[in-house]
Amino acid sequence: MKQAQYLWFDGEMVPFMEAKVHVLSHALHYGSSVFEGIRAYQTHRGTAVFRLEEHIQRLFDSAKIYRMPIPFSQDTLKQACRDAISVNGLSSAYIRPLAFYGHVGVGINVPPGSQAQVMIAAFPWEAYLGAEALEQGIDACVSSWHRMAANTVPTGAKAGGNYLSSQLIGGEARRHGYAEGIALDVHGQISEGAGENLFIVKNNVLITPPATAAILPGITRDSILTLARDAGFAVQEASLAREALYLADEVFMTGTAAEIVPVRSVDGIVVGNGRRGPVTAALQQAFFGLFDGTTQDKWGWLDVISPE
Ligand code: PMP
Repeated sequence: MKQAQYLWFDGEMVPFMEAKVHVLSHALHYGSSVFEGIRAYQTHRGTAVFRLEEHIQRLFDSAKIYRMPIPFSQDTLKQACRDAISVNGLSSAYIRPLAFYGHVGVGINVPPGSQAQVMIAAFPWEAYLGAEALEQGIDACVSSWHRMAANTVPTGAKAGGNYLSSQLIGGEARRHGYAEGIALDVHGQISEGAGENLFIVKNNVLITPPATAAILPGITRDSILTLARDAGFAVQEASLAREALYLADEVFMTGTAAEIVPVRSVDGIVVGNGRRGPVTAALQQAFFGLFDGTTQDKWGWLDVISPE
């Protein structure tokens, strides 16, 4: 697999191994970073970044919540994402933009006028939960760790510090032999996976927890809601109790890294017939079809960087 040679750091391309920060960097001590995870696919139209616009907007939204000034325009960062792919000669990639407070002192609150540093790396990354998971599905469990309450740390921001929660949820699941953990919110309703949103299918209705359920409003989640509505499926954003997972006809997770992964069991209880269900398969086909052209990109989601 092709390895990345360069990454974009504060306005320039630097050799991958020379992109360094100081050990006193604020983000290392206090989690003060915001970031994105984006994928570029090799498509029928050439290498294309999926929903680049929305991802960079979410990066700026996350920074806005934390009043973190990003000293670059959205256009500059979008171009840096494209450049990080091209300069490394990648035809598909995972792209990781990160804005963080560097060596600005060890006070919890950054000094007035501090600005974020920004880096964008692009590198090859296969299916997050494994290629065979996309077809076979995964075994998941409900975590003993809950998601943060809405008035503690905002889950609508994709901030570095939030991922301590994801590490507890995902780590516990893996130690107990599951592929991924699902968190409840503080009210006991289903929230999301450690790094994925969650959907169930019940009687041909697609249901996903609403933005108020301590979720990250995922861009893949939004893509699936859009593709499902477009294909004529009934779709609801509604609170789900834990047992809804056990009684669902189908369960699946969505995320940029994970893509669309069927869940074949939850807490050891088989979901449906224990295999990828027909709605999940149809939505996977609609999603991946965007990249081979079998699904028309009606929404302008593909940002083609090297046309074929
Ligand atoms: N929830 C969490 C906690 C995540 O980390 C992610 C991955 N970014 C998602 C949901 C899915 O979001 P997206 O589809 O935008 O990648």
